Amino acid sequence: MPELPEVESVRRQLAPLLEGRVLERVQISDARLTRPLPPTDVARALEGERVLVVDRRGKYLIVRFESGRSLLIHLRMTGSLRWAPAGTLPDDPYRRAVCTLDDGSDVAYRDLRRFGTWLVLEPGELEPYLAERIGKEPLGSGLTARSLTDRLARRKAPLKAVVLDQRVFAGVGNIYADEALWWARLHPLRPANTLTPEELKALVRSIRRALRLGIARQGATLRDYRNANGEAGAMQSEFRVYGRDGEPCTRCGHPIEKTRAGGRGTWFCPNCQV
Ligand SMILES: [Zn+2]
Repeated sequence: MPELPEVESVRRQLAPLLEGRVLERVQISDARLTRPLPPTDVARALEGERVLVVDRRGKYLIVRFESGRSLLIHLRMTGSLRWAPAGTLPDDPYRRAVCTLDDGSDVAYRDLRRFGTWLVLEPGELEPYLAERIGKEPLGSGLTARSLTDRLARRKAPLKAVVLDQRVFAGVGNIYADEALWWARLHPLRPANTLTPEELKALVRSIRRALRLGIARQGATLRDYRNANGEAGAMQSEFRVYGRDGEPCTRCGHPIEKTRAGGRGTWFCPNCQV
């Protein structure tokens, strides 16, 4: 499932291709993408909009238009966006939408399992919508160990579950949570409210480190994530713990173990993360 680094990689590729362009023709072929609104209504609302900037918050991709409206895209499990020069878009049975730009190029949305969403928001609606759903941007300056102290003080849940909470760490999902906890040397099942100030600092630092590494490798491709040029990411070859049960820890050599935390498969080194 695409997390912050995967969405950021797509954003960085799409921004120079979309910014300043007009969505000339929009076809949405899957009603699940826009429900409860009919796809034709959403397509019509998008046609004629000029892209101001392609933005991101957490795992949301945000296409901001000159009109003040925005298109909020969440890729969920298997959504991906693909850009293609005029007339070169390959056939795809899992295509759910296509936007044709005023230079003839296409941006296609593909989604195998169809959990992704497209939502058009009117001017002024974006910030309140996001504020209800996600917390501070982990790579921004607003997220600090101090700002987390109060948030985590009453959370007895396993640390892994709290790291996955989008209202605490926007954009962090299962992969980067496990990787960050390994960098921070913190056990995923530790109650979140038992962290010392030093450990909180290590956690924030490690989340940033894991996310930055993911962005530098243009995301991780496990099954079907592809960037906007149709290419796979390379982060999967950098994993320290994720999916590596039985393999040696790159720090201490102890075999990586798998457990469950926050309802998710969780990998950690029982020797480094005590
Ligand atoms: Zn280790």
